[in-house]
Amino acid sequence: MKNPIIITIDGPAGAGKSTIAKLLARRLGFHYLDTGALYRAVTLKALRNKMLPGGSESRLAGLVLSSDIKLRSAPGGNKVRVFLDGRDVSSEIRTPKVTSYIYKISSAPAVRRAMVKLQRRLAKGRNIICEGRDIGSVVFPMARIKFYLDASIKERAGRRYKESKSLFPGTRIGYKQVRKEIAVRDYRDSHRKTAPLVRPKGAFYVDTTNLSISQAAGTLYRIINDKLDKK
Ligand code: C5P
Repeated sequence: MKNPIIITIDGPAGAGKSTIAKLLARRLGFHYLDTGALYRAVTLKALRNKMLPGGSESRLAGLVLSSDIKLRSAPGGNKVRVFLDGRDVSSEIRTPKVTSYIYKISSAPAVRRAMVKLQRRLAKGRNIICEGRDIGSVVFPMARIKFYLDASIKERAGRRYKESKSLFPGTRIGYKQVRKEIAVRDYRDSHRKTAPLVRPKGAFYVDTTNLSISQAAGTLYRIINDKLDKK
């Protein structure tokens, strides 16, 4: 494809990025790239290889480039499966243990440099909707359309609490704990030295606190159509 279209969605945990990005990708016939899943897969591998905590930054960065990470959409569905070195790790990458160690991976500059390369390689030549924390600011600063999604911490924690109950019905993690963990992750993501979470220049800001998924997706869809029509 000669001039592929890149659309970026950044924002904190629970703002609705993944759900909305998947819906839009399906509606527009674009590929979807969940960069959080890439950070999660590398964290899982580092834990398995006993490189966390304490592995050197260059070895962790090496893991990014030597791992085979694939995201596959189930045909017709809006579920995306994540494969690490040929094995489906879609559930494992969302466990509280992986979530609690990600910052060790995502705050390491050498790891982020390797991640940028990987993300650009995965996006090459495709129309893509890519979501994460530094996508419009660092990975694809030249993207055609950029969004920044946000929502109140109360709402975001509520969404993540429901999600973790359905993903891991056995775990007894409470709403208050989920909210505390999200606040810590927000702080770490927006205060790290390399590629912190920011509202990228020129990004459309959408607050999803009081929007249903279809209302939020509809808002982004209208902006995308409008911008693409004018080209
Ligand atoms: O999106 P998700 O909650 O799965 O992301 C998990 C973590 O991965 C984030 O809290 C952040 O530390 C890291 N991440 C990142 N840059 C991205 C995507 C995710 O640092 N582009």
